[in-house]
Amino acid sequence: MDKRKFLTRLINRSLFFVILNFCLFAKAEIFSSIRVWYPSPSIIKTIQDSGIALDHSVRRSDVYLDLVVSEQEKLILEDLDLLFEVLIDDLTSYYKDRNVAVLNERNFPLGSMLGNFTWSELNQRHEELKNMYPEIISEKIILGQSFEGNDIWAFKLSDNVNEDENEPEVLYTGLTHSREPLSMMNLFYFVQNLVESYDIDSSEANYLINERELWFIPVVNPDGYIYNEQIEPNGGGMHRKNRRDTGCGLGTQRGVDLNRNYGYGWGANDTGSSPDPCSAIYRGESAFSEPEIEIVKDFILNRNFKNVLHYHSFGNVYIHPFGDGSYPDYGDLMIYRGLAQEMSDLNNFNFGTGYETIGYTVNGDAVDWTYGNNGIITYTPEVGSSSQGFWPSESEVEELCDNQFEPNKVFAFTAGSDFVLGSYYFSNDLLPGAVVSVNLEILNRGLTVSNGAVSIKIEPLSQLINVENQLVEIEELSSWQKDTISFELNVSDQVAYFSEASIKISIQDEKSYKYTDTLRFFIGNQTLLYQEDFNSGIGQWSVNGDWGLTNEPSIGLYALTDSPNGNYTAETSSSATIEIDLDFSFIANPFVSYLALWDIEDGYDFVRFQAYTDENGWVSLMGNYTVQGNGATAQPLGQYGYDGSQNTWVMEKIYLNQLNGNKPLAFRFIQDSDQYVEGDGFVFDDFSINGFSLGLLGDLTSDGTVNIFDIIGLADMISRGEEPSNYELTFCDLDNNGEINILDLLMIINVVSN
Ligand SMILES: [Zn+2]
Repeated sequence: MDKRKFLTRLINRSLFFVILNFCLFAKAEIFSSIRVWYPSPSIIKTIQDSGIALDHSVRRSDVYLDLVVSEQEKLILEDLDLLFEVLIDDLTSYYKDRNVAVLNERNFPLGSMLGNFTWSELNQRHEELKNMYPEIISEKIILGQSFEGNDIWAFKLSDNVNEDENEPEVLYTGLTHSREPLSMMNLFYFVQNLVESYDIDSSEANYLINERELWFIPVVNPDGYIYNEQIEPNGGGMHRKNRRDTGCGLGTQRGVDLNRNYGYGWGANDTGSSPDPCSAIYRGESAFSEPEIEIVKDFILNRNFKNVLHYHSFGNVYIHPFGDGSYPDYGDLMIYRGLAQEMSDLNNFNFGTGYETIGYTVNGDAVDWTYGNNGIITYTPEVGSSSQGFWPSESEVEELCDNQFEPNKVFAFTAGSDFVLGSYYFSNDLLPGAVVSVNLEILNRGLTVSNGAVSIKIEPLSQLINVENQLVEIEELSSWQKDTISFELNVSDQVAYFSEASIKISIQDEKSYKYTDTLRFFIGNQTLLYQEDFNSGIGQWSVNGDWGLTNEPSIGLYALTDSPNGNYTAETSSSATIEIDLDFSFIANPFVSYLALWDIEDGYDFVRFQAYTDENGWVSLMGNYTVQGNGATAQPLGQYGYDGSQNTWVMEKIYLNQLNGNKPLAFRFIQDSDQYVEGDGFVFDDFSINGFSLGLLGDLTSDGTVNIFDIIGLADMISRGEEPSNYELTFCDLDNNGEINILDLLMIINVVSN
């Protein structure tokens, strides 16, 4: 048969199947988003026991629980006599109607299902990438067939891609639940962006491709995904499970929930999974009864993965073991929390067990088995917010993928040893001629012990700063172990006052990625411009709402808080403001610092620290502990602020260079809450404004010292009756009376002769 005939026949055949499928599958069922009011633990258990999936629900403490239900499940809830309201009646139509198409050319190709690849598009995309980068992207490796006979395949990204090298291995899986396309899309985005920077020397991508074996199973559940494509060819299909015939018709009730079919704690109870074959969380007839899960199991058992991400969507959260709400042992729990924090710093996800983050339990899920049976560190990342849902708008797909890019890299780095600089500390101000001892905290955030010694290289970037031992070694650092090194810094007496200096720190072992960071500092005295410790009351602060003093300060007698009498009030906005009149013209690197602790409903309520400038009005400022608002009622999107809880006092530092040189005229803490859950609120103390003085009192010639030339110059100025400059007024008006006269000259003579 000639090729063209064969193709025509193939196309005709596919067409036949499409038509056949169209007849076979009834019109897709409608799924709704509903809100259950006052979901006590027992109500949540009742809902779970009825077989409804809570994986992607949003729980607002005990006020409400939003979940996605099918028509049948809605009837079940009605039977249970639960108080609920329908938020979105038909989710698929909603997803399609709100869609904003992307029209512009872009670097990352999107697919045709609301921006997501169809099954054939994603197969083709792998083919394209592999053809462009055949040395580092492997062929498809067919691991086996799904229930309906589709290939479940993996591919590898690494140098010498066809060899099994002795390199730490990482696995990323997607589309276990077939209505969660972002769990797959972000993996293609990750791979594409790595391979595109492969040729850049010493790039992170270069290192990861050369020193890791990155494995991907983009689609664990091809049957479910293909079914969604059949019922909703343009995206929005809501089928979750695989396509085993479980006697529940041909629609979305059919199938086994693949994330309840793993062998660890399989079927431990009927709350975390369901024995009902028509339930969304049906666990199957036995552990690993489903070919898809048997395949993932064998693949993990046959390889040597250090860590695994089992991707789902949505919820903006990293879920770690265990599904029943219990914790891994202390050492591993610290790793789970620490590594999640490292990734969350880059995408603002929450993290914890499913019970902590969403309030539900599961059994037979992937992370429990991956960790519980194999000791492999693993999370379920849930990509996207609850409002973005299962099928976000096409215009949001690339950004959602991009949000995972940096965390995905961190996860790959940590499969080996991987070093970062923790906190550091200078024993005293860096002044000309000073000897300063510096402490640096070094952390191995990787999951393997260092490859031999860890070397820390300390390179002063200016000639007038000297470090005697530029190379310090730590003999060995285990996974998640910290160590502190110290060294002495000699500041030359030739160094100019008020200049900026820096030291480059590099950390690596024989095989790790070379971590580098630059510590910057000013030569000179740190100057205190304003301070309030609230020991004698509220001082110059003006407050409204409930703001007032509390007698539980960090130091001294009082601190200022938004809620002195218990929790803050619901649905309020209140603030504490200080107007300032400070001259920043000769201050370098000004910053505000304060001690704070807080308990604010996570993800909903907010406290922001703001500066007022003539140019921009009130601006929210970023500190070491702020997060960005998520767009909830009380959290303006993208603005910096505090939420969640911080139970011990921390020192916050806010650099004012964020104001781009505009002069701050006032600062305020502004608290906002919505109508629901409240917390104990925000407390701060020991508020100060600091900077490095760019001048020295009496130093008219601004050469860093006060000497005879300053006296001569000043005497000249006074005798000639010259108008003083702003600098001269700031640094030579020693008695602060607004003019420069003979009294200032006498005081400077005093300084010099002392
Ligand atoms: Zn899922």
